[in-house]
Amino acid sequence: MKVLLLGGTAEARDLASLLVQADVDVTSSLAGRVDRPRLPVGPVRIGGFGGVAGLRSALVDYDLVVDATHPFARGMSANAVEACAGEQVPLLRFERPGWEPDPAWRYVTTHDEAAVLAASLGERPFLTVGRQELARFLPALTDAHVLARVVDAPDISLPPSWRLLTSRGPYTLAGDLEVMGEHRCDVLVTKDSGGTYTWPKMQAAAELDIPVVVVERPRPDPRALVVDTVGPALEWVLSHR
Ligand code: NAP
Repeated sequence: MKVLLLGGTAEARDLASLLVQADVDVTSSLAGRVDRPRLPVGPVRIGGFGGVAGLRSALVDYDLVVDATHPFARGMSANAVEACAGEQVPLLRFERPGWEPDPAWRYVTTHDEAAVLAASLGERPFLTVGRQELARFLPALTDAHVLARVVDAPDISLPPSWRLLTSRGPYTLAGDLEVMGEHRCDVLVTKDSGGTYTWPKMQAAAELDIPVVVVERPRPDPRALVVDTVGPALEWVLSHR
């Protein structure tokens, strides 16, 4: 039984490790977006498949697919649903739960909305939305004193009033308090990524009493079988042995 594990998340690495321990033939797939990715144990392939058609061709080598990509990696998840349905390969979507909503947070459905709301709430936003989304914040926040934290620098040029901070989680409350305090951030913008790696900024925002703008997750494909913890994902794979 050969398993393709679509990854790029801490949970996908956890699952890869458990599958390798269970003697499952698993190949982890990464998009190749970050310069020095954290690699899971076991075989790894890197780079896109070439859309649904490319993924369908790749699936001849696999019996099962687990899509454990990030909750906001909807393109890959949609392709996995289409390709697996087309090739009749069982697919499981593993998606970590979103954060428990806090009444103080302001939810929006798009990054463009987040940009406009952040501009109305503060002048020194802390953007933690990923490098691919930064362009969406330029129109509303061109003149703001933005602190943008990303894993790798974006390939767009940023306004002179913006400061770029390249770093990668997991973060700590003390560290995030320092970063946000030093920049005098007055609004935090984040996606509802869930998990613990990027949670300390939410605690820091609460301690500093600054508003938080949260971009909601896109809805999962209703056709997908979804689990939100690693245990059931492991069981699902083992049940196909
Ligand atoms: P996306 O928009 O859903 O995917 C865009 C394209 O990138 C896909 O169509 C696919 O190219 C390729 N791709 C994405 N994930 C892949 C994977 N695991 N293996 C092989 N190809 C992959 O994805 P994204 O939001 O750019 O995320 C890229 C990667 O970063 C994912 O692995 C995700 O888990 C990770 N990540 C994303 C975020 C986020 O906020 N979006 C945060 C942390 C980590 P083809 O069409 O050519 O197959």
